[in-house]
Amino acid sequence: MTIRWYPGHMSKAHEEISELIRRTDVIIEVLDARLPFSSSNHLLEELRRNKPCIKVLNKHDLADPAVTTAWVRSFQTVSGIRALPLSAKQLAEVKQLIKLCKHLVPKRGNPGYPVRAMVVGIPNVGKSTLINTLAGKCMAKVGDKPAITVRAQQIDLRNGIHLFDTPGLLWPEMSDQGGAYRLATSGAIGANALDYTNVGLFAAEFMVRRYPELLKARYKLSELSEEPYEVIEAIGRCLGCLASGGVVDLHRAAEAFLRELRAGKVGRISFEEPETAIPTETAAQVS
Ligand code: GDP
Repeated sequence: MTIRWYPGHMSKAHEEISELIRRTDVIIEVLDARLPFSSSNHLLEELRRNKPCIKVLNKHDLADPAVTTAWVRSFQTVSGIRALPLSAKQLAEVKQLIKLCKHLVPKRGNPGYPVRAMVVGIPNVGKSTLINTLAGKCMAKVGDKPAITVRAQQIDLRNGIHLFDTPGLLWPEMSDQGGAYRLATSGAIGANALDYTNVGLFAAEFMVRRYPELLKARYKLSELSEEPYEVIEAIGRCLGCLASGGVVDLHRAAEAFLRELRAGKVGRISFEEPETAIPTETAAQVS
């Protein structure tokens, strides 16, 4: 079961998240390290009041390390916020999170008086993976502690931390077209919410501008066209996405390109930087 709060039920959502935050000592907000701005929901900042919040920049194994460092620096300037890049699949990295929780709540953090932590984030950022890694084998439930309308339970991590066993699900904000396309490029929202080919064209345009050398190396291209259609065509040819008559099937090529990009096969890529994340390019250029 997942705790949900969706825009259609905003006021109830506010109540639910407020109640859960009230019972929490530290909020673990999971973001996608490749797009920390668009994978957040800014309502959380409003609702967290003065509770400390750790922004987990998850999937940092897929993100550009220099850009991730810049994000960490930019988040640290906000009071009560810490940022921690990690891969939710790596126990050694996740252990840093436990240390940070205890550091932020120094009055708690021992078995008799644990830090109460809650994981929140939009879909697909790695919340469940993180909870599973944190919980490991000690999925000991510490009793039924119902929230107002949900059955979130706490698990005792046996290291001075209690964690809600289900993540709080925030919704992605889709009002900014550029942000929506970046979310679709990363795989956080289904590409059929937007047209697959258009998402691929958006990604190609971005890569030509920001990571041309990675694109050239992966697809053995000596030159890059500034026309996204031609870039997808060249990628499609390299990947063998051909229709009858030997022409490139653009839809298949875009799909294959996005699959590779998301899996990190093109390289470590960040789609947003702290200075430019706030609504920038529109998808109109490619649609
Ligand atoms: P949730 O919807 O937020 O609970 O996300 P999930 O935990 O289901 O993860 C979504 C996808 O991201 C899954 O395919 C995970 O295997 C993958 N994932 C989660 N964490 C990481 C990570 O740190 N690195 C990489 N490369 N993939 C991850």
